[in-house]
Amino acid sequence: MSRVWNFSAGPAALPQAVLERAQREMLDWNGSGASVMEQSHRGKRFIEMAARTEADLRSLLTVSADYAVLFLQGGATQQFAQIPMNLAGDGDSADYIVSGHWSAKAVAEAAPYVQVNTAASSQKDDFLKLPPRDGWQLDPRAAYVHYTPNETIHGVEFHDIPDVGTVPLVADMSSNILSEPLDVSRFGLIYAGAQKNIGPSGLVVMIIRRDLLQRAGRPMAKIFRYAEQAANDSMLNTPNTWGWYVAGLTFQWLHAQGGLTVMAERNRAKAALLYQAIDGSDGYYSNPIELSARSRMNVRFTLHDSALDAAFLAESEAAGLMALKGHKALGGMRASLYNAVPLEAVQALTAFMQDFARRHG
Ligand code: PMP
Repeated sequence: MSRVWNFSAGPAALPQAVLERAQREMLDWNGSGASVMEQSHRGKRFIEMAARTEADLRSLLTVSADYAVLFLQGGATQQFAQIPMNLAGDGDSADYIVSGHWSAKAVAEAAPYVQVNTAASSQKDDFLKLPPRDGWQLDPRAAYVHYTPNETIHGVEFHDIPDVGTVPLVADMSSNILSEPLDVSRFGLIYAGAQKNIGPSGLVVMIIRRDLLQRAGRPMAKIFRYAEQAANDSMLNTPNTWGWYVAGLTFQWLHAQGGLTVMAERNRAKAALLYQAIDGSDGYYSNPIELSARSRMNVRFTLHDSALDAAFLAESEAAGLMALKGHKALGGMRASLYNAVPLEAVQALTAFMQDFARRHG
C-alpha cells in the first residue's frame, strides 16, 4: 500500500486513523454484524452514534444550547438557496459580502429567494484581498449578512469575525470549519460541506441559533425547513448515514489530537512553512494574496514561468505529492492544508519545491 501526500481542495484528505478505523469496522460495526451503511438510521446503534457525534462537535466548538446542530444533505451549494428560503420572508433583503468564487456563487443561488444586496465586494481587486471593512454598505434591516470566511479557490481568508451588529451573521465555513477554535456565539448560522475538514461529501453540518428556527421564511416543502429538521433530529428522511458516521470518527480524532487549539497551532505552522518557501524563493514561486488575507487552508502559488507548470505537476505527482494543480479558473498551483494534512506533507512539498527550483533553475 502506498499513500500519497494529498493536497486536494475537496473532497480532501481524511485522517489516516479515521480511514483505518472505518476499515476495521466496515464488516461488523459496533457488534451489529453489519456495516453502518446497512442498517436503519432509526436503530438504537445509529441513534446513539448520531447523538455522540453531535455531542463531540458541540464540545469541540463549545456550542451552547442556544444553537441546534443539523446534519443535512445536498452540499453547501444547496444551502446557498435554502438559507434565504428559511431566513428571509417575502420582500426581505439580505447582505452579502463577496470575496471570491464561492461567495459569488452564494449570491447567484440566493437571488431567486431574497433581494440580495452586495454590501461589499473585492472583485475589482481580482479577489486578491478582502473588501475593507469600513466600506461595507450594511443594511441594519437585512434578514442576515452572509460571508465566506475562507475562499477555497481564491485562497483568501478572514482572520477576524466581522462585527455586523445585531443582524445575524451567516458563514459558509466549508473550507475552514474546525481548523481553529471559534466563538460560535458571534454567528446566527454556520454551515459547512463535509468534504474538506469533516468527512465524505454529501453531508452538510449546520449550527443554527434556535431563534432563527422561528422565522417563517418562504413557502417551502418541509424537507427544506430547518425547524423541521431540528425537530426531527435531522432525520426527516433517510440521512447520509455513512457520512454522519465518518464525521463522528473525525470528531473523535480531533478530540484525541487535543482539540482545536492544537489543530490551530499545527495549521498555522503548516501554512507558515509553505508561505515561507514561496516568499523565500527569490520570485521562483509567488503568492498574489495580500499578506493579511492569506488563507491558512488553501495556499495558491504560481511558478515564475507557466511553461514549467506541466513539469512541476508531473514531477510532484511522481514524488508522491497529489493534487497540486490550481483551480482551472485561476491556473497555477494550490495546496490545501486541511486538518488531515500533516506537517510532514508540507515538509515534503517544500523540499520538492526547492529541489524543483534548483533543477529547473
Ligand atoms: N463553499 C465553499 C467555501 C466551498 O469550498 C465549496 C466546495 N469546494 C462549496 C461551497 C460547494 O460545496 P458543495 O460542492 O458541497 O456544494
